[in-house]
Amino acid sequence: MRAVDIQSEITEILVTEEQILKRLDEIAAQVAVDYADKDLLLVGVLKGAIMVMADFSRALPTVAPIDWMAVSSYGASTKSSGVVQIRKDLDEDLHDRHVLIVEDIIDSGLTLSWLLENFASRGAASVEVFALLRKPDAAKVHVDCRYVGFDIANEFVVGYGLDYAEKYRNLRDVAILAPHVYS
Ligand code: 5GP
Ligand code: MG
Ligand code: MG
Repeated sequence: MRAVDIQSEITEILVTEEQILKRLDEIAAQVAVDYADKDLLLVGVLKGAIMVMADFSRALPTVAPIDWMAVSSYGASTKSSGVVQIRKDLDEDLHDRHVLIVEDIIDSGLTLSWLLENFASRGAASVEVFALLRKPDAAKVHVDCRYVGFDIANEFVVGYGLDYAEKYRNLRDVAILAPHVYS
């Protein structure tokens, strides 16, 4: 494998793994209280949410089933197209389920608002959102997001599951990708 000089490809580490894990503990404790009398179904959005799902689900004090959905609105670009396509549908039936969507990031909000409508139409008892990251300045539509890890500036970030052209997902921290990498 080619060794990558990652320092030249990122401009700044925005959120460290340590900060993320601490925040996940706080949110998991809150979710445990909020869902104390409900059976929770965690739904992760592939592939960006793989790391946050792995760590968040294990931070929960209770067992919870995990399902995955793959949608795409980006391709190898850094801007949302607004066109959402299902690449892999859920395995679980959502009817009467209490769904918590686990997302890596809310940027324009287009993907999540589409997912929320889609899940509501499948008869879920409730659908809430946990997004590790949110870019308030990039919002094109409002998304009711019950749990947010960190609000960040309107920059393209990678790491901790987030990619650029499938790269950088395995960085432990969330970092700003150097513009020379994609421009
Ligand atoms: P939306 O614009 O629909 O809110 O974002 C859709 C998806 O685009 C996110 O779930 C995420 O996978 C990807 N995305 C949005 N902003 C970023 C970013 O800054 N970095 C990376 N790597 N992906 C992003
Ligand atoms: Mg995502
Ligand atoms: Mg991506």
